[in-house]
Amino acid sequence: MGASEAEVSIAIGEDHPDIREAVRRICADFPGEYWRDLDQREAYPEGFVKALTGSGFLGALIPEEYGGSGLSIRAASVIMEEIHRSGCNAAACHAQMYIMGTLLRHGSEEQKRTYLPKIASGELRLQAFGVTEPTTGSDTTRLKTRAVREGDHYVVNGQKVWTSRARQSDLMLLLARTTPLEEVKRRTDGLSTFLVDIRASLGKGLEIRPLKAMINHNTTEVFFDNLRIPASALVGEEGRGFRYVLDGMNAERILIAAECLGDARWFIAKAVAYAGERIVFDRPISQNQGIQFPIARAFAETEAAELVVRRAAALFDAGLDCGKDANMGKLLASEAAWHAGEAAMQTFGGFAFAREYDIERKWRETRLYQIAPISTNLILSYLGQHVLGMPRSY
Ligand SMILES: Cc1cc2nc3c(=O)[nH]c(=O)nc-3n(C[C@H](O)[C@H](O)[C@H](O)COP(=O)(O)OP(=O)(O)OC[C@H]3O[C@@H](n4cnc5c(N)ncnc54)[C@H](O)[C@@H]3O)c2cc1C
Repeated sequence: MGASEAEVSIAIGEDHPDIREAVRRICADFPGEYWRDLDQREAYPEGFVKALTGSGFLGALIPEEYGGSGLSIRAASVIMEEIHRSGCNAAACHAQMYIMGTLLRHGSEEQKRTYLPKIASGELRLQAFGVTEPTTGSDTTRLKTRAVREGDHYVVNGQKVWTSRARQSDLMLLLARTTPLEEVKRRTDGLSTFLVDIRASLGKGLEIRPLKAMINHNTTEVFFDNLRIPASALVGEEGRGFRYVLDGMNAERILIAAECLGDARWFIAKAVAYAGERIVFDRPISQNQGIQFPIARAFAETEAAELVVRRAAALFDAGLDCGKDANMGKLLASEAAWHAGEAAMQTFGGFAFAREYDIERKWRETRLYQIAPISTNLILSYLGQHVLGMPRSY
Protein backbone atom coordinates (compact mmCIF):
# COMPACT_ATOMS: atom_id res chain seq x y z
CA MET A 1 0.00 0.00 0.00
CA GLY A 2 3.02 2.30 0.10
CA ALA A 3 3.21 5.03 -2.51
CA SER A 4 4.60 3.76 -5.78
CA GLU A 5 7.52 5.53 -7.42
CA ALA A 6 5.14 7.07 -9.92
CA GLU A 7 3.06 8.51 -7.11
CA VAL A 8 6.07 10.00 -5.34
CA SER A 9 7.68 11.50 -8.42
CA ILE A 10 4.53 13.31 -9.54
CA ALA A 11 3.32 14.25 -6.11
CA ILE A 12 3.39 18.02 -6.06
CA GLY A 13 2.26 19.26 -9.48
CA GLU A 14 2.28 22.77 -10.84
CA ASP A 15 1.06 25.71 -8.83
CA HIS A 16 -0.30 27.72 -11.80
CA PRO A 17 0.36 31.21 -10.41
CA ASP A 18 -1.04 32.82 -13.57
CA ILE A 19 -4.36 31.00 -13.18
CA ARG A 20 -4.48 31.92 -9.50
CA GLU A 21 -3.89 35.56 -10.30
CA ALA A 22 -6.55 35.61 -13.05
CA VAL A 23 -9.14 33.93 -10.80
CA ARG A 24 -8.34 36.31 -7.95
CA ARG A 25 -8.91 39.27 -10.28
CA ILE A 26 -12.36 37.97 -11.25
CA CYS A 27 -13.27 37.22 -7.64
CA ALA A 28 -12.31 40.74 -6.56
CA ASP A 29 -15.45 41.94 -8.35
CA PHE A 30 -17.59 39.64 -6.19
CA PRO A 31 -16.85 40.61 -2.59
CA GLY A 32 -18.58 39.55 0.63
CA GLU A 33 -21.57 41.90 0.08
CA TYR A 34 -22.37 40.11 -3.18
CA TRP A 35 -22.52 36.67 -1.53
CA ARG A 36 -24.31 37.95 1.57
CA ASP A 37 -27.01 39.45 -0.57
CA LEU A 38 -27.44 36.19 -2.55
CA ASP A 39 -27.47 34.25 0.68
CA GLN A 40 -30.32 36.32 2.07
CA ARG A 41 -32.32 36.15 -1.15
CA GLU A 42 -31.38 32.49 -1.76
CA ALA A 43 -30.45 33.61 -5.25
CA TYR A 44 -28.16 32.10 -7.86
CA PRO A 45 -24.79 33.80 -8.56
CA GLU A 46 -25.68 34.80 -12.14
CA GLY A 47 -23.07 37.53 -12.44
CA PHE A 48 -20.28 35.43 -10.98
CA VAL A 49 -21.05 32.44 -13.21
CA LYS A 50 -21.19 34.74 -16.23
CA ALA A 51 -17.81 36.23 -15.40
CA LEU A 52 -16.23 32.82 -14.94
CA THR A 53 -17.78 31.49 -18.12
CA GLY A 54 -16.54 34.53 -20.03
CA SER A 55 -13.03 33.94 -18.78
CA GLY A 56 -13.16 30.31 -19.97
CA PHE A 57 -12.66 28.90 -16.49
CA LEU A 58 -15.99 27.10 -16.43
CA GLY A 59 -14.96 25.09 -19.46
CA ALA A 60 -11.55 24.29 -17.96
CA LEU A 61 -11.91 20.52 -18.25
CA ILE A 62 -13.64 20.50 -21.65
CA PRO A 63 -11.09 19.61 -24.35
CA GLU A 64 -10.19 22.33 -26.84
CA GLU A 65 -11.76 20.41 -29.73
CA TYR A 66 -15.13 20.85 -28.01
CA GLY A 67 -14.64 24.53 -27.25
CA GLY A 68 -13.13 24.29 -23.76
CA SER A 69 -9.66 25.10 -22.47
CA GLY A 70 -8.58 21.48 -22.00
CA LEU A 71 -6.82 22.06 -18.70
CA SER A 72 -5.67 19.41 -16.24
CA ILE A 73 -7.56 18.53 -13.06
CA ARG A 74 -4.68 20.13 -11.17
CA ALA A 75 -5.32 23.42 -12.96
CA ALA A 76 -9.07 23.06 -12.38
CA SER A 77 -8.47 22.49 -8.68
CA VAL A 78 -6.34 25.62 -8.51
CA ILE A 79 -9.33 27.52 -9.97
CA MET A 80 -11.66 26.04 -7.33
CA GLU A 81 -9.23 26.68 -4.50
CA GLU A 82 -8.65 30.29 -5.51
CA ILE A 83 -12.40 30.98 -5.79
CA HIS A 84 -12.93 29.78 -2.23
CA ARG A 85 -9.78 31.38 -0.92
CA SER A 86 -11.14 34.69 -2.20
CA GLY A 87 -14.31 34.23 -0.14
CA CYS A 88 -16.48 33.23 -3.12
CA ASN A 89 -18.29 29.93 -3.68
CA ALA A 90 -17.65 27.62 -6.61
CA ALA A 91 -20.66 25.31 -6.25
CA ALA A 92 -22.21 26.33 -9.57
CA CYS A 93 -18.89 25.86 -11.34
CA HIS A 94 -17.59 22.62 -9.85
CA ALA A 95 -20.80 20.81 -10.70
CA GLN A 96 -20.53 21.78 -14.32
CA MET A 97 -16.92 20.62 -14.40
CA TYR A 98 -17.43 17.14 -13.10
CA ILE A 99 -20.92 16.38 -14.42
CA MET A 100 -19.66 17.23 -17.87
CA GLY A 101 -17.04 14.48 -17.42
CA THR A 102 -19.64 11.73 -17.75
CA LEU A 103 -20.75 13.15 -21.08
CA LEU A 104 -17.16 13.61 -22.20
CA ARG A 105 -16.03 10.09 -21.32
CA HIS A 106 -19.15 8.12 -22.15
CA GLY A 107 -21.34 10.23 -24.42
CA SER A 108 -21.60 9.61 -28.17
CA GLU A 109 -19.64 11.83 -30.53
CA GLU A 110 -22.92 13.44 -31.56
CA GLN A 111 -23.87 14.23 -27.96
CA LYS A 112 -20.44 15.69 -27.31
CA ARG A 113 -20.54 17.86 -30.44
CA THR A 114 -24.08 18.99 -29.64
CA TYR A 115 -23.60 19.89 -26.01
CA LEU A 116 -20.00 20.44 -24.98
CA PRO A 117 -19.27 23.58 -27.06
CA LYS A 118 -22.47 25.18 -25.78
CA ILE A 119 -21.63 24.23 -22.21
CA ALA A 120 -18.15 25.71 -22.64
CA SER A 121 -19.53 28.97 -24.08
CA GLY A 122 -22.16 29.25 -21.36
CA GLU A 123 -25.05 28.95 -23.82
CA LEU A 124 -26.18 25.83 -21.97
CA ARG A 125 -25.81 25.01 -18.30
CA LEU A 126 -25.25 21.46 -17.16
CA GLN A 127 -25.17 22.04 -13.43
CA ALA A 128 -27.77 19.60 -12.13
CA PHE A 129 -26.96 16.06 -11.12
CA GLY A 130 -29.88 13.89 -10.02
CA VAL A 131 -28.59 10.97 -7.95
CA THR A 132 -29.72 11.26 -4.32
CA GLU A 133 -33.24 10.09 -3.46
CA PRO A 134 -35.20 10.71 -0.28
CA THR A 135 -35.71 7.11 0.77
CA THR A 136 -32.44 5.48 -0.25
CA GLY A 137 -29.77 8.14 0.47
CA SER A 138 -26.20 6.90 0.28
CA ASP A 139 -27.38 3.45 -0.81
CA THR A 140 -27.31 4.59 -4.43
CA THR A 141 -27.81 1.23 -6.12
CA ARG A 142 -31.22 0.94 -4.44
CA LEU A 143 -32.47 4.18 -5.93
CA LYS A 144 -36.07 3.92 -7.07
CA THR A 145 -36.39 6.28 -10.02
CA ARG A 146 -37.21 4.12 -13.03
CA ALA A 147 -36.66 4.78 -16.72
CA VAL A 148 -38.55 2.31 -18.91
CA ARG A 149 -37.89 2.07 -22.62
CA GLU A 150 -40.98 2.53 -24.82
CA GLY A 151 -40.05 2.64 -28.51
CA ASP A 152 -37.95 5.74 -29.16
CA HIS A 153 -38.44 7.05 -25.65
CA TYR A 154 -37.81 6.32 -22.01
CA VAL A 155 -40.58 6.99 -19.53
CA VAL A 156 -39.24 8.24 -16.22
CA ASN A 157 -40.99 7.99 -12.85
CA GLY A 158 -39.58 8.74 -9.44
CA GLN A 159 -38.16 11.44 -7.24
CA LYS A 160 -34.81 13.04 -6.47
CA VAL A 161 -33.85 15.18 -3.52
CA TRP A 162 -31.12 17.76 -2.97
CA THR A 163 -30.72 18.24 -6.70
CA SER A 164 -28.75 21.46 -6.65
CA ARG A 165 -29.33 24.16 -9.27
CA ALA A 166 -32.05 22.23 -11.17
CA ARG A 167 -33.95 25.49 -11.58
CA GLN A 168 -30.93 27.32 -13.00
CA SER A 169 -29.70 24.55 -15.24
CA ASP A 170 -30.72 23.69 -18.81
CA LEU A 171 -29.63 20.09 -18.56
CA MET A 172 -29.61 17.49 -15.81
CA LEU A 173 -27.55 14.34 -15.67
CA LEU A 174 -29.97 11.79 -14.24
CA LEU A 175 -29.19 8.40 -12.76
CA ALA A 176 -32.19 6.06 -13.00
CA ARG A 177 -32.78 2.34 -12.87
CA THR A 178 -33.50 0.78 -16.25
CA THR A 179 -33.49 -2.88 -15.12
CA PRO A 180 -35.17 -3.78 -11.81
CA LEU A 181 -32.81 -4.68 -8.98
CA GLU A 182 -34.29 -8.21 -8.76
CA GLU A 183 -33.30 -8.88 -12.38
CA VAL A 184 -29.62 -7.88 -12.27
CA LYS A 185 -26.64 -9.99 -11.22
CA ARG A 186 -24.86 -7.15 -9.44
CA ARG A 187 -26.55 -4.28 -7.62
CA THR A 188 -24.43 -1.89 -9.63
CA ASP A 189 -25.87 -3.15 -12.92
CA GLY A 190 -29.08 -1.89 -14.48
CA LEU A 191 -28.65 1.81 -13.68
CA SER A 192 -28.36 4.28 -16.56
CA THR A 193 -27.40 7.90 -17.06
CA PHE A 194 -29.51 10.32 -19.09
CA LEU A 195 -29.04 13.86 -20.18
CA VAL A 196 -32.43 15.39 -19.47
CA ASP A 197 -33.40 18.61 -21.20
CA ILE A 198 -34.94 20.42 -18.25
CA ARG A 199 -36.48 23.26 -20.23
CA ALA A 200 -38.27 20.90 -22.63
CA SER A 201 -39.49 18.69 -19.77
CA LEU A 202 -40.87 21.19 -17.27
CA GLY A 203 -44.62 20.83 -16.93
CA LYS A 204 -44.58 17.66 -19.03
CA GLY A 205 -43.84 15.21 -16.28
CA LEU A 206 -41.00 17.10 -14.62
CA GLU A 207 -41.58 19.26 -11.59
CA ILE A 208 -38.92 21.08 -9.59
CA ARG A 209 -39.56 22.47 -6.12
CA PRO A 210 -37.05 24.57 -4.18
CA LEU A 211 -35.77 23.01 -0.98
CA LYS A 212 -34.86 25.54 1.68
CA ALA A 213 -31.51 24.78 3.23
CA MET A 214 -28.95 26.04 5.74
CA ILE A 215 -26.80 27.38 2.93
CA ASN A 216 -27.56 29.04 -0.37
CA HIS A 217 -27.02 26.08 -2.68
CA ASN A 218 -30.11 26.44 -4.85
CA THR A 219 -31.19 22.97 -3.85
CA THR A 220 -34.41 21.38 -5.07
CA GLU A 221 -36.64 18.34 -5.04
CA VAL A 222 -37.33 16.90 -8.47
CA PHE A 223 -40.38 14.84 -9.37
CA PHE A 224 -40.76 12.66 -12.46
CA ASP A 225 -44.28 11.66 -13.38
CA ASN A 226 -44.35 9.75 -16.67
CA LEU A 227 -41.75 12.08 -18.14
CA ARG A 228 -40.99 11.01 -21.72
CA ILE A 229 -37.42 11.62 -22.79
CA PRO A 230 -35.99 10.63 -26.18
CA ALA A 231 -33.94 7.45 -26.23
CA SER A 232 -31.08 9.60 -27.55
CA ALA A 233 -30.84 11.16 -24.06
CA LEU A 234 -29.18 7.97 -22.82
CA VAL A 235 -25.48 8.56 -22.13
CA GLY A 236 -23.30 5.55 -22.93
CA GLU A 237 -24.70 2.05 -22.68
CA GLU A 238 -27.92 1.21 -20.90
CA GLY A 239 -27.27 -0.43 -17.53
CA ARG A 240 -23.74 0.91 -17.04
CA GLY A 241 -24.65 4.26 -15.52
CA PHE A 242 -23.44 3.51 -12.01
CA ARG A 243 -19.93 2.87 -13.31
CA TYR A 244 -20.01 6.09 -15.31
CA VAL A 245 -21.01 8.05 -12.25
CA LEU A 246 -18.33 6.36 -10.15
CA ASP A 247 -15.81 7.22 -12.84
CA GLY A 248 -16.53 10.89 -12.36
CA MET A 249 -16.34 10.75 -8.61
CA ASN A 250 -12.60 11.03 -8.31
CA ALA A 251 -12.68 14.30 -10.24
CA GLU A 252 -15.50 15.47 -8.01
CA ARG A 253 -13.60 14.58 -4.84
CA ILE A 254 -10.46 16.39 -6.00
CA LEU A 255 -12.32 19.56 -6.99
CA ILE A 256 -14.34 19.63 -3.77
CA ALA A 257 -11.19 19.04 -1.73
CA ALA A 258 -9.57 21.99 -3.50
CA GLU A 259 -12.55 24.15 -2.51
CA CYS A 260 -12.08 23.02 1.09
CA LEU A 261 -8.41 24.01 0.96
CA GLY A 262 -9.49 27.41 -0.32
CA ASP A 263 -12.02 27.76 2.50
CA ALA A 264 -9.43 26.74 5.07
CA ARG A 265 -7.00 29.35 3.77
CA TRP A 266 -9.67 32.04 3.72
CA PHE A 267 -10.57 31.29 7.36
CA ILE A 268 -6.93 31.18 8.43
CA ALA A 269 -6.10 34.50 6.74
CA LYS A 270 -9.18 36.15 8.28
CA ALA A 271 -8.45 34.73 11.72
CA VAL A 272 -4.78 35.74 11.69
CA ALA A 273 -5.61 39.28 10.56
CA TYR A 274 -8.41 39.77 13.09
CA ALA A 275 -6.46 38.21 15.96
CA GLY A 276 -3.62 40.62 15.28
CA GLU A 277 -5.90 43.68 15.32
CA ARG A 278 -8.28 42.85 18.13
CA ILE A 279 -6.93 44.20 21.41
CA VAL A 280 -8.43 42.77 24.60
CA PHE A 281 -6.74 43.01 28.02
CA ASP A 282 -4.26 45.43 26.44
CA ARG A 283 -2.82 42.96 23.96
CA PRO A 284 -3.72 41.45 20.63
CA ILE A 285 -5.73 38.28 21.13
CA SER A 286 -3.28 36.48 18.79
CA GLN A 287 -0.78 36.63 21.65
CA ASN A 288 -2.91 34.11 23.53
CA GLN A 289 -2.05 30.50 22.82
CA GLY A 290 -5.72 29.61 23.12
CA ILE A 291 -6.35 31.72 20.02
CA GLN A 292 -3.07 31.14 18.20
CA PHE A 293 -2.76 27.36 18.46
CA PRO A 294 -6.10 26.33 16.91
CA ILE A 295 -5.28 28.55 13.93
CA ALA A 296 -1.77 27.10 13.67
CA ARG A 297 -3.13 23.57 13.93
CA ALA A 298 -5.69 24.19 11.20
CA PHE A 299 -2.88 25.59 9.06
CA ALA A 300 -0.81 22.42 9.55
CA GLU A 301 -3.84 20.25 8.70
CA THR A 302 -4.49 22.29 5.57
CA GLU A 303 -0.91 21.98 4.35
CA ALA A 304 -0.96 18.21 4.94
CA ALA A 305 -4.32 17.78 3.21
CA GLU A 306 -3.04 19.75 0.25
CA LEU A 307 -0.25 17.25 -0.36
CA VAL A 308 -2.72 14.38 -0.58
CA VAL A 309 -5.06 16.38 -2.82
CA ARG A 310 -2.17 17.28 -5.10
CA ARG A 311 -1.09 13.66 -5.29
CA ALA A 312 -4.63 12.67 -6.21
CA ALA A 313 -4.68 15.31 -8.96
CA ALA A 314 -1.28 14.21 -10.26
CA LEU A 315 -2.38 10.58 -10.42
CA PHE A 316 -5.65 11.56 -12.09
CA ASP A 317 -3.82 13.66 -14.68
CA ALA A 318 -1.39 10.80 -15.31
CA GLY A 319 -4.34 8.47 -15.92
CA LEU A 320 -3.44 6.37 -12.85
CA ASP A 321 -5.77 5.10 -10.17
CA CYS A 322 -6.38 7.93 -7.71
CA GLY A 323 -9.38 6.59 -5.74
CA LYS A 324 -7.52 6.28 -2.46
CA ASP A 325 -5.96 9.75 -2.62
CA ALA A 326 -9.06 11.49 -4.01
CA ASN A 327 -11.13 10.09 -1.14
CA MET A 328 -8.52 10.76 1.53
CA GLY A 329 -7.86 14.23 0.16
CA LYS A 330 -11.53 15.12 0.30
CA LEU A 331 -11.86 13.76 3.83
CA LEU A 332 -8.77 15.54 5.15
CA ALA A 333 -9.43 18.82 3.36
CA SER A 334 -13.07 18.98 4.50
CA GLU A 335 -11.95 18.48 8.09
CA ALA A 336 -9.11 21.00 7.80
CA ALA A 337 -11.60 23.55 6.45
CA TRP A 338 -13.99 22.85 9.29
CA HIS A 339 -11.27 23.17 11.92
CA ALA A 340 -10.10 26.41 10.33
CA GLY A 341 -13.71 27.61 10.35
CA GLU A 342 -14.06 26.72 14.01
CA ALA A 343 -10.79 28.51 14.83
CA ALA A 344 -12.00 31.60 12.96
CA MET A 345 -15.37 31.46 14.74
CA GLN A 346 -13.69 31.40 18.13
CA THR A 347 -11.19 34.08 17.16
CA PHE A 348 -13.88 36.51 16.02
CA GLY A 349 -15.87 35.87 19.19
CA GLY A 350 -19.24 37.62 19.08
CA PHE A 351 -18.37 39.28 15.78
CA ALA A 352 -18.27 35.86 14.13
CA PHE A 353 -22.05 36.02 14.34
CA ALA A 354 -22.27 39.41 12.66
CA ARG A 355 -23.18 38.73 9.03
CA GLU A 356 -20.95 41.52 7.72
CA TYR A 357 -17.79 39.57 8.58
CA ASP A 358 -18.83 36.57 6.44
CA ILE A 359 -17.42 34.12 9.00
CA GLU A 360 -20.81 32.63 9.85
CA ARG A 361 -21.73 32.26 6.16
CA LYS A 362 -18.49 30.53 5.22
CA TRP A 363 -18.69 28.41 8.37
CA ARG A 364 -22.16 27.20 7.36
CA GLU A 365 -21.00 26.63 3.80
CA THR A 366 -17.89 24.65 4.66
CA ARG A 367 -19.79 22.33 6.99
CA LEU A 368 -21.46 20.81 3.93
CA TYR A 369 -18.33 19.08 2.71
CA GLN A 370 -18.28 16.51 5.49
CA ILE A 371 -21.73 15.41 4.32
CA ALA A 372 -21.99 16.07 0.59
CA PRO A 373 -21.24 15.14 -2.09
CA ILE A 374 -20.21 12.12 -0.03
CA SER A 375 -20.24 11.83 3.72
CA THR A 376 -17.11 11.16 5.75
CA ASN A 377 -18.38 7.79 6.96
CA LEU A 378 -18.77 6.52 3.44
CA ILE A 379 -15.18 7.56 2.66
CA LEU A 380 -13.95 5.81 5.80
CA SER A 381 -15.80 2.65 4.83
CA TYR A 382 -14.26 2.85 1.34
CA LEU A 383 -10.78 3.15 2.86
CA GLY A 384 -11.44 0.42 5.41
CA GLN A 385 -12.77 -2.03 2.88
CA HIS A 386 -11.14 -1.27 -0.46
CA VAL A 387 -7.78 0.11 0.64
CA LEU A 388 -7.14 -1.69 3.93
CA GLY A 389 -8.89 -4.95 3.05
CA MET A 390 -11.19 -5.08 6.06
CA PRO A 391 -14.71 -6.52 5.76
CA ARG A 392 -17.52 -4.47 4.29
CA SER A 393 -19.07 -2.85 7.36
CA TYR A 394 -22.61 -2.54 6.04
C1 LIG B 1 -26.66 21.32 0.14
C2 LIG B 1 -26.67 19.97 -0.49
C3 LIG B 1 -26.51 19.85 -1.87
C4 LIG B 1 -26.57 18.59 -2.47
N1 LIG B 1 -26.51 18.50 -3.85
C5 LIG B 1 -26.76 17.30 -4.44
C6 LIG B 1 -26.89 17.21 -5.86
O1 LIG B 1 -26.74 18.20 -6.60
N2 LIG B 1 -27.19 16.00 -6.40
C7 LIG B 1 -27.37 14.88 -5.64
O2 LIG B 1 -27.63 13.81 -6.20
N3 LIG B 1 -27.24 14.93 -4.28
C8 LIG B 1 -26.95 16.11 -3.68
N4 LIG B 1 -26.87 16.19 -2.30
C9 LIG B 1 -27.11 14.98 -1.51
C10 LIG B 1 -25.86 14.45 -0.83
O3 LIG B 1 -25.01 13.87 -1.76
C11 LIG B 1 -26.35 13.49 0.27
O4 LIG B 1 -27.02 14.27 1.26
C12 LIG B 1 -25.21 12.73 0.88
O5 LIG B 1 -24.65 11.87 -0.07
C13 LIG B 1 -25.67 11.89 2.08
O6 LIG B 1 -26.83 11.18 1.76
P1 LIG B 1 -28.14 11.28 2.69
O7 LIG B 1 -28.39 12.71 2.98
O8 LIG B 1 -29.24 10.51 2.09
O9 LIG B 1 -27.68 10.61 4.03
P2 LIG B 1 -27.89 9.10 4.47
O10 LIG B 1 -27.45 8.18 3.40
O11 LIG B 1 -29.28 8.96 4.99
O12 LIG B 1 -26.88 9.01 5.66
C14 LIG B 1 -27.08 9.73 6.90
C15 LIG B 1 -25.86 9.56 7.77
O13 LIG B 1 -25.64 8.16 8.02
C16 LIG B 1 -24.35 7.78 7.61
N5 LIG B 1 -24.37 6.43 7.06
C17 LIG B 1 -25.25 5.91 6.17
N6 LIG B 1 -24.92 4.64 5.89
C18 LIG B 1 -23.81 4.36 6.60
C19 LIG B 1 -22.97 3.22 6.73
N7 LIG B 1 -23.22 2.10 6.07
N8 LIG B 1 -21.90 3.29 7.55
C20 LIG B 1 -21.65 4.41 8.25
N9 LIG B 1 -22.40 5.53 8.17
C21 LIG B 1 -23.46 5.50 7.36
C22 LIG B 1 -23.94 8.79 6.56
O14 LIG B 1 -22.53 8.89 6.49
C23 LIG B 1 -24.58 10.06 7.08
O15 LIG B 1 -23.73 10.66 8.01
C24 LIG B 1 -26.76 17.43 -1.68
C25 LIG B 1 -26.88 17.55 -0.28
C26 LIG B 1 -26.86 18.80 0.30
C27 LIG B 1 -27.05 18.90 1.79
